[in-house]
Amino acid sequence: MLDKIITVYLAGVTAEEFEYKGQRFLPKPIHVSPLIFRGFTCSSGCGGCCPRFSLDYLPNDLAPSNLTERAVKISGRNVKVFSDLQMDHNNHFCRHLDAKSGRCKQYTRRPFACDFELIRFLHYKEKVVIMQKLFGRGWAMKRIDGEQGAKCEMLDTDPYWLAEVQRKLDGLTQWANHFGLRTRIALISSWVTSGPHARPLLISAEELEVR
Ligand code: SF4
Ligand code: SF4
Repeated sequence: MLDKIITVYLAGVTAEEFEYKGQRFLPKPIHVSPLIFRGFTCSSGCGGCCPRFSLDYLPNDLAPSNLTERAVKISGRNVKVFSDLQMDHNNHFCRHLDAKSGRCKQYTRRPFACDFELIRFLHYKEKVVIMQKLFGRGWAMKRIDGEQGAKCEMLDTDPYWLAEVQRKLDGLTQWANHFGLRTRIALISSWVTSGPHARPLLISAEELEVR
């Protein structure tokens, strides 16, 4: 999931150009939809969004033991990240998914990428749209109960979900800071805290200061 954190999430909020795996990422205008404040259900017996993938942690994260240290190159800088690549785990699902309940067995130590769901960054050529949304191919997800199809449903917003968005943005800020990237997350956080939430928040590619 490291690639997703960098090429989808950090690329979506960066305020400066950066390079990763030979690809250049430039700041794009951001549209944050008020739909980001929706909540969601997560039923037992699903596990659809928990296939086996790399579980990636920052050095100071609460994390399981036996992680592999790796150096990630961003714009020529080597940045330390700790991962469980799950190369030794021969299963469709993550090693931490409970086979009976479909629940995460290390929920309090789940990595950022798991925690950040279901916030979506939709990348277009001229902008990135950020919202909370069900999985685009959720119908195709393999479930732990042997059936197919993500079981989650969207909920109306309430203060809990608003606080959750803020907490998740704080997590993304930690990743950006760790990689030494300037971002526009503070602008989004300011809007999350103060509103108005009736319309989308529009942020230009150059904007940096909180209004
Ligand atoms: S796909 Fe949806 S319901 Fe299923 S485990 Fe993931 S969040 Fe929960
Ligand atoms: S760590 Fe937990 S939440 Fe993340 S993929 Fe594995 S089982 Fe799912």
